[in-house]
Amino acid sequence: MTARLILGKEVSESIYSELRERIGKLKAEGIVPGLAVVLVGEDPASQVYVRMKGKKCEELGMHSVTIVLPESTTEAELLAKVNELNADDSIHGFLVQLPLPKHINEDTIINAIDPKKDADCFHPENVGRMLIGDPSFLPATPAGVQQMLIRSGVETSGKHVVVVGRSNIVGKPMAAMMVQKGKGADSTVTVVHSRTQNLPEITRQADILIVAIGKARFITKDMVKEGAVVIDVGTNRVPDPAAKNGSRLVGDVDFENVKEIASAITPVPGGVGPMTICMLMANAVKATECATRLR
Ligand code: NDP
Repeated sequence: MTARLILGKEVSESIYSELRERIGKLKAEGIVPGLAVVLVGEDPASQVYVRMKGKKCEELGMHSVTIVLPESTTEAELLAKVNELNADDSIHGFLVQLPLPKHINEDTIINAIDPKKDADCFHPENVGRMLIGDPSFLPATPAGVQQMLIRSGVETSGKHVVVVGRSNIVGKPMAAMMVQKGKGADSTVTVVHSRTQNLPEITRQADILIVAIGKARFITKDMVKEGAVVIDVGTNRVPDPAAKNGSRLVGDVDFENVKEIASAITPVPGGVGPMTICMLMANAVKATECATRLR
């Protein structure tokens, strides 16, 4: 068997066309959804993400603001910027790009973001709402994975989902979303991590295996059940003498071999990657719709 590919570009295009319609309706009422991204320092990967977010906003006809602050920015200065964005009516959603320089406490910054403008869905109020099944927003990467499952026709109800990784950004919210009642969820969920014993025994039980650990090609064929759906969130840069810049991106899954036994699989790149920005845009549009209803 060779697995069917689930491609983030295809799935995200269908979501973007829905978002364009919603943005059109808002604009007809004179409202332009506004998304701001704050970047502190010069982390090259973060610079790339921030540029991509700004570009996508503009493509969708949204108001896009990118604020770049120097590495030396103090926590108080960043808090002042967050408060400014909280009060800015032209900005409906914003995020502070992580990671932050070590002298700034990430939790302090996240907690200062107005939950109604929390485009990343990292604020504890929004995380709590997601957990009780009454979300305002959903965290972008897990929400993107869920949309990939729904829109590519993968049945999740009653299925055993094994999530590898327990970060606050991917693993934990992913597990929390899949265990909810409703479409694209209703799953039986197991979470495994670096302290898990007999990890391959558990991954082999997965009908749907979602991997987010940041270890190149960690999940090998012998760790996957025949016919499983495999979602690879990982992005790892590995040396590749044949590539122009001497390296290339691979996932946490040994794609070439696992695709021989999986029923469906996401490649890296081209799988989950495009979904994260897409779901961020969806959060910004939702924040605008909610703010408009509250006026
Ligand atoms: P973190 O480093 O925050 O978390 C990694 C998780 O993996 C931890 O829970 C850790 O366990 C677990 N882990 C590490 N090694 C092992 C192991 N050998 N066996 C089992 N579990 C292990 O990473 P993130 O969740 O932020 O990201 C994970 C990957 O996903 C990265 O490659 C990242 O680049 C990618 N990513 C991709 C996105 C996209 O848009 N495509 C978005 C976000 C992330 P423990 O808690 O015990 O330490």
